[in-house]
Amino acid sequence: MSDLKFLTYENLEQIRMEFGTPSFVYDESTLRQKAQELLAFPHAFGFFPRYAMKAAPTAAILRIFNEEGLGIDASSIFEVERAVRAGFGTEFISLSTQELAEDFRYWAQDGVKINLCSLSQIQRLGSWKIGEPVGLRFNPGTGSGGTNRTNVGGPSSSFGIWKGDLIKARDLCHMHGLEVERIHTHIGSGSDPEVWKKVAGMSLELVRAFPTVHTLNLGGGFKVARMPDEVATDLQEIGQSVKSIFEEFAAETGRKLNLEVEPGTFLVAHACSLVSSVQDVTQTGVDGYRFLKLDAGMTELLRPSLYGAQHPIHIIPDPEEVSEREEAEQVVVGHCCESGDLLTPASGDPETLAPRSLVRGEINDFCVIDSVGAYCSSMTTKNYNSFPEAAEIIKKQEGNLALMRKRQTFEQLIENEVAP
Ligand SMILES: *Cc1c(COP(=O)(O)O)cnc(C)c1O
Repeated sequence: MSDLKFLTYENLEQIRMEFGTPSFVYDESTLRQKAQELLAFPHAFGFFPRYAMKAAPTAAILRIFNEEGLGIDASSIFEVERAVRAGFGTEFISLSTQELAEDFRYWAQDGVKINLCSLSQIQRLGSWKIGEPVGLRFNPGTGSGGTNRTNVGGPSSSFGIWKGDLIKARDLCHMHGLEVERIHTHIGSGSDPEVWKKVAGMSLELVRAFPTVHTLNLGGGFKVARMPDEVATDLQEIGQSVKSIFEEFAAETGRKLNLEVEPGTFLVAHACSLVSSVQDVTQTGVDGYRFLKLDAGMTELLRPSLYGAQHPIHIIPDPEEVSEREEAEQVVVGHCCESGDLLTPASGDPETLAPRSLVRGEINDFCVIDSVGAYCSSMTTKNYNSFPEAAEIIKKQEGNLALMRKRQTFEQLIENEVAP
C-alpha cells in the first residue's frame, strides 16, 4: 500500500462501497502543488501560465486552477464555454484550435484571445472585423514528443502555420488590419528539454518578424516521469535558459517580452489514480499468459492502447488476508471485447503484450493505476461496449473524498436515441 500516491486502503473501500469502481480519484493537494510549481517558473519580464484543459476538463479541476491564478488554453470553442461556466473570465482564456467555428466570433468579441493556427483562420477571423489583436501559432519546423503521435511540430504535423508561410501570414494580417500581439508555438507532449530550449530560440526569430508582438507563448509539453525509469523535465532548468534568451533578446532589440506557457500533463498527470477491480482471471496454458481482467479499460484509459504508454499498476488484496501473495508475471487487460484493450503493452508498442511483475491478482482485488490525470478521463473510447462513463472523485486537502462527476447512468447513455 505504501507505494500508492495518495490513497489509503480505507479510501479504496469507501470508493467501492459509496461510488463504485471504476472511478477516477484526483488529489486536490497535488493539483495545487503543481500549480504552485508552475507559477514559480523563472522568467525575465512577466509570466502568465495557462492550463491546457483538454488534459482533464472537469469543472472542479478548472475551479482549483482558477483559484491558484492560472489561465486557460482551450482547444475548441466547447472548451471555452466549459471554462467560462467553471468561472473563468473570458480575458483569461486563449484558444488554439484546429477547427475555428463561426460561433467563435462572439467569444472573440467577449475578450477570449485567439491564436490563429492556419492561413485560412487568419482570413476567416479577418473577415469578422472584430478589431481585437490576435496571436499566431506557428509550426517552427521542429517537433518533439514522447511518440510520433504526440509530436506536433515539424513537417509531419498539421498544427500551426508552417514557418515557411511567415511572410504570407504577415501579409494576410496586414491586409485584414489584424494586429499581431502574440506568437505561439507548441511542439508536442513529452518533449525533450533540449528541443524545447531550441524551439524557444527559434520562436524568438518569429517574434522578430512582428514588431507589435509583446508575448511569446511556448505551449506545454513538459515531460513527467510516470514510471521509475522515466525522467521528468526540470522546470527550473528550462525556465532559466528561456529566461536568459529572453534577456539576450531584450538587450539586442529593446523588446521585453512576456512569457506564457500552457502545460496540461505537468499540472494533472500525477494528480489522479484510477481505482478499478479485478473482475476475472484467465491463464492461457503453460506457455501462455496469466491475464487479469479489470472492470475498466480503454473506456477509461486509452493511452496504453494508443501510444503503448506505461502507467504504474498496483494490485491490492485485502490487507487482512492471512497469506502473503507472491508476485507473478501478468498481463492486465480491460473489459472491452477488443484485443487492443491492453493496459500492459510494450513501451511505445501497443501491439505487443508485455507481462508485468505484479502481486498475483485474484478476483475482487483492487487494481489502482497511477498517474492517469492527463488525457485519460478526457480521452477515452467512451461508451464502447455500452459501458457507462466512470465517476470522478476528488480527495480534498482535508482528506475526505467527494464526488466531482457522477457515474453516467444507463438512461444517459441512450438518451439521445430517437425512433427514426
Ligand atoms: C495539448 C496542448 C498543450 C498541452 O500539452 P501537454 O503536453 O499536456 O503539456 C498546450 N498547448 C496546446 C496548443 C496544446 O494543444
